[in-house]
Amino acid sequence: MSRVKHAPEALSVARSLCIPVRPWGGESLPSYVARLAQANRIPHTALWRCIGVPHRAGASSTTLPWEATLNQPAVARLAVMSGIPVERLRKALPGLSWSIREASALPTDVPTFWMRQAHSPNAVICRQCTLRRSISTQVRAHLSLPDIVCHRHHTWQTPEPKDISAVPEIARAQRRLRKLRKTHGSHIMACCVRDARWIISGWASIPSREPMLEELWQHRRIKLGLPHWFRSWDLTTHIMAHPEVVTLACALVPIYLDPLFFKRPGIREWKFKRHLRLRLGLDPRRQPTGDPINKFFLAVQTDRARWRNPKSAMITETATPRTSQ
Ligand SMILES: [Zn+2]
Repeated sequence: MSRVKHAPEALSVARSLCIPVRPWGGESLPSYVARLAQANRIPHTALWRCIGVPHRAGASSTTLPWEATLNQPAVARLAVMSGIPVERLRKALPGLSWSIREASALPTDVPTFWMRQAHSPNAVICRQCTLRRSISTQVRAHLSLPDIVCHRHHTWQTPEPKDISAVPEIARAQRRLRKLRKTHGSHIMACCVRDARWIISGWASIPSREPMLEELWQHRRIKLGLPHWFRSWDLTTHIMAHPEVVTLACALVPIYLDPLFFKRPGIREWKFKRHLRLRLGLDPRRQPTGDPINKFFLAVQTDRARWRNPKSAMITETATPRTSQ
């Protein structure tokens, strides 16, 4: 990709646009700029060129699943053009806060933006919710896992809105996940979900080692109108296995609350594994070979550092990119 050269003097003085647009909470910068441009009847690429000079590859027409890094002068210009003070913009548009560290790669004197693939999931907000606020265009936002379902309209919001009303246990699982986050915080929630997914993915293939889970997930697929074929851990697997992931995540909380959990007198590993299988409604006896719960405990014991490190999990579960943790 050729480096785009712009003379800084080509940027005119920033002026407030005629029609202000309120950002959606957690909205991505490209989504907000696209909506601001559309309201003011200008192409979003033109508005980006007013915000600053593109760093490396320029803004393309496919910028929506992307996130932008802005340096300070570009943030100031966006504030003037949107008519919203910098502090309020930062609160509503998380990309502005994450990019503070990354912005050090950008020049400090010339207003500059850097468009890159978003490090954090980019959900499309439930259409009925946006229409309620008279927004007819798509709104993309960074949602953490416990916020991914719109409970008002029973919609799973990533990567595209998906009606999940046919499987009410998904929304119920979301409520339990929110409770988990509220009680134990995002860090523990992210670790438990990461591990639960790791374990559940061991059963997600077809044929599965647990026919009961295979049947349950196929049943949900049919109800939700999801395709039958899938890769072992793609998005539709995320949706259909979500209730079991949350059940398992909640059951794994004790091992994160107490780093010495397995060293405490009276704790028996086999008892805990049995408890996990029971919580999932499985036969409490472990599978003789390849039981993912067994594999998990082995992985935990051989690589404790990775297990305690939440960073590999935080991106999808908390909608926070790795660099800003
Ligand atoms: Zn909604």
